[in-house]
Amino acid sequence: MDLGLSGKRALVCASSKGLGRGCAEALAAEGVALVLNARGAAALEATAAEIRAAHGVHVTTVAADITTEEGRAAVLAAAGDVDILVTNAGGPPPGMWSDWSRADFIAALDANMLTPIALMQAVLPGMIARGWGRVVNITSGSVKAPIAVLGLSNSARAGLTGFVAGTARQVAGKGVIINNLLPGIHDTDRAIALDTGVAQAEGISLSEARAKREATIPAARYGTAAEFGAACAFLCSQHAGFMVGQNLLLDGGAINATL
Ligand code: NAP
Repeated sequence: MDLGLSGKRALVCASSKGLGRGCAEALAAEGVALVLNARGAAALEATAAEIRAAHGVHVTTVAADITTEEGRAAVLAAAGDVDILVTNAGGPPPGMWSDWSRADFIAALDANMLTPIALMQAVLPGMIARGWGRVVNITSGSVKAPIAVLGLSNSARAGLTGFVAGTARQVAGKGVIINNLLPGIHDTDRAIALDTGVAQAEGISLSEARAKREATIPAARYGTAAEFGAACAFLCSQHAGFMVGQNLLLDGGAINATL
């Protein structure tokens, strides 16, 4: 299927590794020029070079913390008039409901709610003026089914989901389509970090922690960044124009629900 994206420009945040990189790769494969971002310059430059070599698209890099005002300003200045925005950032740390302070909540809200909202507020006017745009926010399956130890994530992402639900319907008539992609467990550094925490807490090996978690997924495995990226590219495509404000879950069937 031709996604109709050749020649478009995309800003993909937090994209040197993991799910953000998966989205960047899938868009590059469709001929989309990229602006990539992450805090660490070395991994970011390596990813950019690999994508240029594999897909022959123009790739600009901005090493910055997307959750800060200065970081966002630098990224947005480099991005200019983008057709596609993929929002992403690291997830908040796990913990216990009774331990989180106001400062912990503010940090989580900044990273996983207010940052994507600020990015949308920055790029939506241009997309509306040009009559075409796509936004995909990487959130989490925890929006549909809470993960108790990730209460900071549950809270912040629920706020973003509410904002998208309303805003997506305000801009759809202008050719701008906003949707959220909800990852379940995917094989990335983030998953390894969470499995490491479980292994330490339960006194088991990392591979035992992973096997335990895989056993809870009907697909019996973790998802891949490439699968995630392919879904992102579809949401950015010409074919997704009637899909407005949705929350698309990619979790191998882990959340046991009919709808
Ligand atoms: P990952 O493998 O750890 O990759 C995170 C990427 O984001 C890296 O390129 C990292 O580079 C960059 N990054 C992190 N914080 C950043 C910041 N403040 N500013 C700019 N770049 C930043 O993580 P992932 O698994 O792809 O997860 C992506 C998002 O999906 C996270 O919010 C995570 O909570 C959520 N999620 C993941 C899973 C999963 O199973 N993987 C499941 C549910 C939800 P630098 O460190 O160099 O900045």
